[in-house]
Amino acid sequence: MKSRWSDADARALAGLDLLVYASRLIGAETSLVVWGGGNTSIKVAERDHRGRQIPVLRVKGSGSDLKSVQKKDFPGVRMEDILALLDREDMGDEEMVAYLAHALQDVGGARPSIETLLHGFLPAEAVIHTHADAIVSLTNNDRAREVIAGVYGRSVRPLAYRRPGFRISRDVADTIRANPDAKALILEKHGTIAWGRTVREAYEATIELITPAEEAIAERKKGRKVFGGARVPALPAGERRRVAVAVAPRLRGLLGRSILAFDDGDEVLEFVSSAEAGALSQIGPATPDHTIYSKRLPCYVPADDPERLVPVIASAVERFVADYTAYFTGHAPPGLTLTDPMPRVVLVPGLGMFTAGKDKRTAGIVDDIYRHTIAVLGNASAFGRYVSLSARDAFDVEYWPLELYKLTLAPPEKELARRVALVTGGASGIGRATAARLAREGAHVVVGDLDAAGARKVADEIVSASGAGRALGVRMDVASEGSVEQAFEAAVLAYGGLDILVSNAGIAHGAAVNRMELADWERSFAVNATGHFLVARAALRLFKSQGRGGATVFVATKNVMSPGKDFAAYSASKAAEAQLAKVVAIEGGPVGIRSNIVNPDAVFQDSKLWSEEIRRERAAAQGIGVDQLEDYYRKRNLLEAPILPEDVAEAILFLASDRSSKTTGCTVTVDGGLRDAFPR
Ligand code: ZN
Repeated sequence: MKSRWSDADARALAGLDLLVYASRLIGAETSLVVWGGGNTSIKVAERDHRGRQIPVLRVKGSGSDLKSVQKKDFPGVRMEDILALLDREDMGDEEMVAYLAHALQDVGGARPSIETLLHGFLPAEAVIHTHADAIVSLTNNDRAREVIAGVYGRSVRPLAYRRPGFRISRDVADTIRANPDAKALILEKHGTIAWGRTVREAYEATIELITPAEEAIAERKKGRKVFGGARVPALPAGERRRVAVAVAPRLRGLLGRSILAFDDGDEVLEFVSSAEAGALSQIGPATPDHTIYSKRLPCYVPADDPERLVPVIASAVERFVADYTAYFTGHAPPGLTLTDPMPRVVLVPGLGMFTAGKDKRTAGIVDDIYRHTIAVLGNASAFGRYVSLSARDAFDVEYWPLELYKLTLAPPEKELARRVALVTGGASGIGRATAARLAREGAHVVVGDLDAAGARKVADEIVSASGAGRALGVRMDVASEGSVEQAFEAAVLAYGGLDILVSNAGIAHGAAVNRMELADWERSFAVNATGHFLVARAALRLFKSQGRGGATVFVATKNVMSPGKDFAAYSASKAAEAQLAKVVAIEGGPVGIRSNIVNPDAVFQDSKLWSEEIRRERAAAQGIGVDQLEDYYRKRNLLEAPILPEDVAEAILFLASDRSSKTTGCTVTVDGGLRDAFPR
């Protein structure tokens, strides 16, 4: 492993600033730590609340991630209080947390890491703890002690596995006292501890610890067949995509509401298709804190034929749930109830890996973690039989009261969390406002539009407001069967399925019937009628394969109830849309698929439908000037209110969400009140 240390970057830094710098270097190396794993510290002199100069440990707080860690993420803990605990033999987690809360320099700041005492008990000025893949590869096999001694001699001391907490810190202190010459410690089935008199020394000691392990792994793997070679051939890339698109919604239906990610990268494919994957994947995690994201084990699907996957996946998930429930009831203390027995990682031979999370980001973290697990499984197996934490130890970390407590502090999930919505015509006007509104309530949104750049721009706006992965912009011509299929495939590959369809894309054409061209009539029907049919059909198929209902909202128009002069193509094609929506309600009802209609009137703002030509034509049809048009529409409604995209989006949110769970086949007007257009 190469040192990333740069004198140019580090020269001006000192103290905690320098530790932040080194911590980010550690975090940037994902084979050292992933997603919140690992921690770093320094011992400094600071003034306490009484103005006395005292020794203080600045240690990474729990909940922050090393690669983006900041100064504020390092609470200060008074060393005098830490060292007072050296006399103790044991201490419970809760007692330790409460004790440390009294030893903090800053009131109300971040909570110090659960591994705080491990840092504090070490006499060195700077300490770095990682979960390095290369090191756990040496320790997670049945020859660990022999392998470690072979690589490091006596300069690096191994410690038997212990759950993070007081006792492991005690072990660290005792080992250092007994081995004052030790240069580093290896925590079996967990990671590394290295230190130095300066931050740089601790950083370089960590890198130097990893390098011989990497070399030993490379040497050991030479000429060896990884994972026993292939058991089933990997499908070709195009086929994998097709099968993944067919399988993902079924899997999502089995797993319950979650966001799925699909990964068929080379390393993943090699592992899942291998002879040993079935047995190897069922042994346990590489390092304890992975269980919090990925659970102890993945769901391995013993499939031979990727074309007949669905029943095999279903029985594999069923078995996982039974096994997981037994694991839970076998280890849970009284009073703890099982809330989620579903797998987070599903391995499919020949195809790839699905990972599940509450959002796209979490599904991505799980994917990342399992990719590291695959690397460790392969490397550790080169030395001997892969071993991991016992089920008991894994359970104790997965259901650690301190972690569960942390979860209770997280904000409650939003109304549309874990749901996926697709909005057609999403690049502007009502579609754009709706995409943003649904995203604000927690939905992941696929923004479809003929204007691909516009769709991507709206998706980017959602991502910057709501977070990475929360939206996807795709080109979508609703009048083209192929384009609609592609957009739905993109949605499935990105998120695993769909829960909400907002069928909104539409065009307007104005002409008197006797002057209308056939092509204009047909174009109106292609978009305003056939377009809704194509997206509704694709959504219904997807909803049915998930088997968890669904919500469709059709954006129609007040013209359905009250058609306008010189507007036959628009009014007639939108009436077809409304009839379609009602039939979807009739057909979808028995399987929980709802279908409702919103009838807006004249939404001008940000609208592509109201082109200059349509404005001129509608003004002429009403016998008014173009500049009077918006005012005319406003004044004709009972509330004399202009209708904004956000007003329509609000009605769509109601119909798309469980707020309207008992409503289907309904038309909601958003027109300021038009007597002619009252639904009846
Ligand atoms: Zn750790």
